[in-house]
Amino acid sequence: MLEIGTNTHPSPHNDARYILIAKQKVLTLDKHFLFSLSDFHPSSDMRSVFIGQYEGIDIFVCRFPHPPKGFTENGLRDMLFDSNEQEFDLLSRAHQLATWDADHQFCGRCGTPLIKKHEKEHAKLCQQCNIRHYPRISPCIIVSVRKGNELLLARSFVMPEGRYSNIAGFVEAGENLEQAVQREIFEEVGIKVKNIRYQGSQPWSFPHQLMVGFFAEYESGEITPAPDEIAEAGWWRYDDLPNTPNPTSISGQLILTHADIIANESA
Ligand SMILES: [Zn+2]
Repeated sequence: MLEIGTNTHPSPHNDARYILIAKQKVLTLDKHFLFSLSDFHPSSDMRSVFIGQYEGIDIFVCRFPHPPKGFTENGLRDMLFDSNEQEFDLLSRAHQLATWDADHQFCGRCGTPLIKKHEKEHAKLCQQCNIRHYPRISPCIIVSVRKGNELLLARSFVMPEGRYSNIAGFVEAGENLEQAVQREIFEEVGIKVKNIRYQGSQPWSFPHQLMVGFFAEYESGEITPAPDEIAEAGWWRYDDLPNTPNPTSISGQLILTHADIIANESA
C-alpha cells in the first residue's frame, strides 16, 4: 500500500524507485513502470517529486521534457484501466504530483520562482512571502440517477458515439456536494433529483480531480440535454445498458452497483 504520510521528505537516492513521466505520458519498459536510478540517466532538466513510500521503499516521480531513449510512452488513462488498486494509487498520485510540480513553478501571490520544498509536507514554500503552495485537488461530483428500473445515462460531446456515462461536474466555490449534484444534473439534463446518497470516491488525475460518487433518485422534469455540453441523454433499463465506462473507474462502478441493486430487488 502507498503510504503518503511520511514524516520526512527525502531527496532522490539509490535505494528509491522512480516513476518516469514525459509530456503527460507514463514511461515503461516491458510493461514495468518502477525503475531504479541505474535504469535511466537522470538529466539536468529532469525534475523529481517524492510521492511516498510503497512497501517501505521511497517512491519518486520524475518529469522529463523529452523521454529518455528506449522507453515506451503510455497514456495514463489506458494504464489506469489495466492496473490493480495499488498500481492505480501509485500512478494516480505520481501523475497528479508531476502535474502540480509542472504547473506551480512560481508563487501565485508574488511571482517568485518556487524552488524550496517543505521539509515535512507535500508543499512548496515561497521564500519571498512565505506562503505554502499545496497540490491542487478539485472535487467533482459524479452521480448515477435511478427512475424505477432505469438509470440515467448521458453522452457529452467529448465522448465517442455509443458510449454513455453518469452526470459529473466540478463543485463550485461555496457549494456543498449535494448542491453540486442537484445543480449539475439540472444544468446538464434539466431534471430534479432526491434521496442523494454518498457511495464512494476516487482520485482522478485528469488533471487533479477527486471524484465523489453518489446515487440519486429521479424526482421531476423531462430530460432536456444542455445544448453545448450533452449530445444525448436518456433512461436505460438496468438489464439492457449500453456501452458504459470501464469498472476500474468510479463511473463504471456506480453504474454496475446501481444496476445490481435494481436486479436484486427485481429477483
Ligand atoms: Zn510568494
